[in-house]
Parts: sequence; structure tokens; C-alpha cells
Amino acid sequence: MSPGLGGGVSREAREPPGVRWCRPRPDASILGATPALEASIDRPSFDDLGIATARLWATRSPDPKVQVGACLLDSWHRVVGVGYNGRAAGEPNERESLDQGHSGFIHAEVNALLAANWNGDQHTLYVTHEPCATCARLIINSRRVLRVVYDQGYTELARESSGLPSGAAILGDAGIAVEHWQS
Ligand SMILES: [Zn+2]
Repeated sequence: MSPGLGGGVSREAREPPGVRWCRPRPDASILGATPALEASIDRPSFDDLGIATARLWATRSPDPKVQVGACLLDSWHRVVGVGYNGRAAGEPNERESLDQGHSGFIHAEVNALLAANWNGDQHTLYVTHEPCATCARLIINSRRVLRVVYDQGYTELARESSGLPSGAAILGDAGIAVEHWQS
């Protein structure tokens, strides 16, 4: 006998097998929520999402030494590009050398810049590691990145010992906001 609609059968019991019934989050139906109400809702910020996405893409890197991921968000916080460090398409996905600066890998930031479907010129780049000097200069010349947020510090030893500026310093000198993520 079919229970039919109503008749004391719960909505959960009417769902097909394997479908989990869940209630809408409290913010889902709220349009025009006040800032105070927005602040009271526990959910990740767009910066949280940007860093989390960069970390996720880092897991795709074949680098046994340092896996780096990058994520570009446009001014509306939409993902327009992602990348991780690895060799060029068609090449063997292995380091040429374990020495710093000689991996033969294209850096995650460069792959994200190359893959980007740019939307305007006010993007934020999220990276799991501080950009190197070369990436910093490429980010500057994209002319579309206003802000760089990185998770872990990264020191180019040869540059540091020569007294040359770090990637973060180069970005800052170019007027790009640089933030070290505090997770
Ligand atoms: Zn780099």
C-alpha cells in the first residue's frame, strides 16, 4: 500500500534510497541580510576559499620537494584560474634537479596566470608559498593582480645571500598588496 503524500509519513521516508535529506542552511533564504546577520553566520570567507583552493591544487604537483598551488579570484570572488608546479605539457613530470631554482618545473603562479580567464583587472592571487622573484615580476606584468595572499614563506637562498629583494618585496614595491595568510 502506498503511503501517499501526507498520511503521517515523514519527508525523509519519501526520499529515494541514498538521497540524504538536509535542511537549507539558515543563510540560504536570506536576501539582503544585514551586515550583523551576515557576520553571525559561520561560513568561510572568500580568502578562506582562495587559500583552500590553492592548497587543494598543490596536491596535484609531482614535486617531491615542495608542492605549490595557486588560485586566482576576480573582484567578484569567482575562480578564474588555478595552477600547480610541474613540468611543461608532454614532458616527464619529474624534477631536473633537487637544487633550488633548478627544478625545471613551471611554477604554480605562472600556470595560474597562463590558464586564467581574466575578468577585469582587480584579481587576487592565492598561493600556498611566497612567490619567487621571477613569478613576482610576471604577476606584476599581468597588470591584473591587485593583491597576493600566500600561505607559507619561501626564501630563495641565492638571492637572499646576494642581498637581492624577495618576491614579496618586489610585489610590494610595485604597489601590489601582499599578505601572509594567518591560518
Ligand atoms: Zn615562482
